[in-house]
Amino acid sequence: MPIYIYNSLTRKKEKFVPLSPPKVNIYTCGVTVYDDCHIGHARSLYIFDLMRRYLEYRGFKVNFVRNITDIDDKIINRAKELKVDWKGLSEKYISRYYEDLAALGISEADCEPRATENIPEMIKYIEVLINKGYAYVTETGVYFSVRKFNDYGKLSGQAIKEMFSGVRKESDETKKDPLDFALWKMSKPDEPFWDSPWGKGRPGWHIECSVMSQKFLKSETLDIHAGGRDLIFPHHENELAQAEALTGKPFSNYWIHHGLLTINAQKMAKSLGNFITIKDFIAKYKNADLLKLFFLSAHYSHPIDYTEEKIEEAKKALERIAILIDKIEKKVSGIKYQVSSKKNTEIEEIKNKFIEAMDDDFNTPQGLAAIFDLVNAANKNIENTDFILPAKRVLSELLGIFKISLKKEEIFDTEIEAKILERNSARANKNFALSDKIRKELEQKGIILEDTKEGTTWRRKI
Ligand SMILES: [Zn+2]
Repeated sequence: MPIYIYNSLTRKKEKFVPLSPPKVNIYTCGVTVYDDCHIGHARSLYIFDLMRRYLEYRGFKVNFVRNITDIDDKIINRAKELKVDWKGLSEKYISRYYEDLAALGISEADCEPRATENIPEMIKYIEVLINKGYAYVTETGVYFSVRKFNDYGKLSGQAIKEMFSGVRKESDETKKDPLDFALWKMSKPDEPFWDSPWGKGRPGWHIECSVMSQKFLKSETLDIHAGGRDLIFPHHENELAQAEALTGKPFSNYWIHHGLLTINAQKMAKSLGNFITIKDFIAKYKNADLLKLFFLSAHYSHPIDYTEEKIEEAKKALERIAILIDKIEKKVSGIKYQVSSKKNTEIEEIKNKFIEAMDDDFNTPQGLAAIFDLVNAANKNIENTDFILPAKRVLSELLGIFKISLKKEEIFDTEIEAKILERNSARANKNFALSDKIRKELEQKGIILEDTKEGTTWRRKI
């Protein structure tokens, strides 16, 4: 079964065909580090991490790059406001960002490049754009000449004249056209700068993503470029223009955009007093799974409205899972498991329903519905250990894709089984040091292994 993805570039749901399967390369625009991340950022971070995990679950080898914008007007302005050093400010919010990722249980990307660490590559990229006639130098900076790139507007689907209303009218008189955007900004006194052939300055925001995505994914064309809907114009439109002007090749075959988050039907804003940071959420609810379940309840491409009632609903849903797992554990306590391929048709059908939903443009509301079908089926069959054991295993497998824990288990069934298989092959290769290491590791997590003639069984310590 192929996976279908809604592609913002073609405005159609399309069959997903990566450039060189099973490899998939994904770039997603990360955070600008001048403040704590809010729950809108959490949606973006979680949804794209989930897509990456789901593609891996479906057998793809994903290379996932998520950048950090650590130099930007917002950072410079905030540092001036607070009268602190801009570098210290960005370092502080980078470490707070990593705390948030850990609290949410979101994996690190394969590569998390920072803008300030890739300036020489950006300078080279801009030089090529100038040489090709797509960019020009003025006393305030280097600008991309939008009208030189014929496809400008193809991602956001706007004609150039409509875009005039979309751009901030800058007072810069040196630009040839108000739509032209900065590739390099000459620095004003007291601003951070890097040397360049055009003078001391800093890169524009858009150029960093074109450069770092191609550099770290080692490809001129990406499989997937992802970000929030608010980034389509001008950020992604500009990234695309820079990259395609430079290479003459498509920049990304698929563009995925998630919908935005509102709070009680209002835009989140500090001035409205409805700003919820990830740290605020965790401090209040002590459980990131509630936030994840709330995100999963809407299709990623739709807007989502945060209310406390919805978090309460998520709490009830999680409790239903926890209660079931409790019941199952009481029924099966002490039973020895085997890494087995014993399958139950009803459970397999539910699992297939989950996969079908997720294959269809990552339809998480329907995926969740399949998970709760499984919870209901297990409750009905609670006396039947031949049903509830595989049910629990599949539940753990599917919730693992969503990074939602079954209870407070330190380790999922599927992870245990993967470890056992790894240990089996270590034993087959007479690598007893590794095999012992795996046994001890599992024991520390309360998992007891027993080697029998029929293979290895395992149980949780009661
Ligand atoms: Zn970007």
